[in-house]
Amino acid sequence: MKVKNLKPTIGFIGAGNMGLPMIKNLIKKGFQLKVYDINPKITKRLDKDNIKTVNNLRAVANNNFIISILPDTQNVESVFNTDSGIISYLKPGTIVIDMSTISSSSAIEIGKVLQKKQIEFVDAPVSGGVKGALNANLSIMVGGKKETYKKSLDILNSLGENVIYAGKLGMGQVFKMCNQIMVGSHIQSMCEAFALCKSKGGDLKLLKETLIGGSANSWMLENLGNDVINKNEHAGFRIDLQLKDLKLASEAAFESGVPLPGLSLVLALYLEARAHNEGKNGNQSLFKTYDRMSNQK
Ligand code: NAD
Repeated sequence: MKVKNLKPTIGFIGAGNMGLPMIKNLIKKGFQLKVYDINPKITKRLDKDNIKTVNNLRAVANNNFIISILPDTQNVESVFNTDSGIISYLKPGTIVIDMSTISSSSAIEIGKVLQKKQIEFVDAPVSGGVKGALNANLSIMVGGKKETYKKSLDILNSLGENVIYAGKLGMGQVFKMCNQIMVGSHIQSMCEAFALCKSKGGDLKLLKETLIGGSANSWMLENLGNDVINKNEHAGFRIDLQLKDLKLASEAAFESGVPLPGLSLVLALYLEARAHNEGKNGNQSLFKTYDRMSNQK
């Protein structure tokens, strides 16, 4: 006798660096997916991997869940909050999980628009990068109704190991911004310490090992310290993406009237890096900004 697949169906929007490994993990877990990406070159590649693709938003709408992971606020708004978007095709009761990093106020707005049509929505941005997406061990920060979070857990647990209910709608994005503020500051302080040590002729490897053993240790030092020492610019999380996230945090701080002077400093340093054509480099490439400022090689 054929066993019926009781797992909910998923329409997945955005098969980029993050989306594609997430799609593969969901398929591995037995979910049935239809994937839409605006770039036909990407969907053609998926067809070769026998992943079911569709070529418009209408065709992806008829599912129990919709997951999106798109570059920025404008892309997510164009999909969910415009007349030409998916909204008119979604049925009441559908659950939308947006995993992109976007503005918190925009996530709240999209949630309200969808709610008017009895469509549930959570903002669920992620941390952990492409590696986390590949290994299904992302951190996922969820904002929205707790009931919707609970209904989404089976899916989210297939993508991450640390799935946190952050609070009301938009709070997932707020948590992600806080994450990015600390990511930026940790990289900046690491580059700053290394710049001083280098200027005095110190041994950077020894410095790294020394700091790892004490209260200055951080995830950044452990994971990106060697890249700074070896001048490795390779992209993990790109400078462009880091800048996008710092800008979102800066706008949110402005909305709330909260001065965040450290964030402003880090944002300016990343702008300096982008002005030197390093947008596509990994965010640890901030060490080159310090090299330029101190005329060191
Ligand atoms: P990406 O550019 O690699 O992929 C985005 C995909 O969305 C592309 O394939 C693009 O064609 C598609 N797309 C754009 N607009 C669309 C639309 N209107 N309809 C359908 N498809 C559309 O980006 P990414 O690196 O996968 O990042 C996605 C999101 O995840 C971003 O918000 C980013 O900030 C966040 N994020 C990325 C990382 C990372 O390391 N790359 C880590 C954490 C969070």
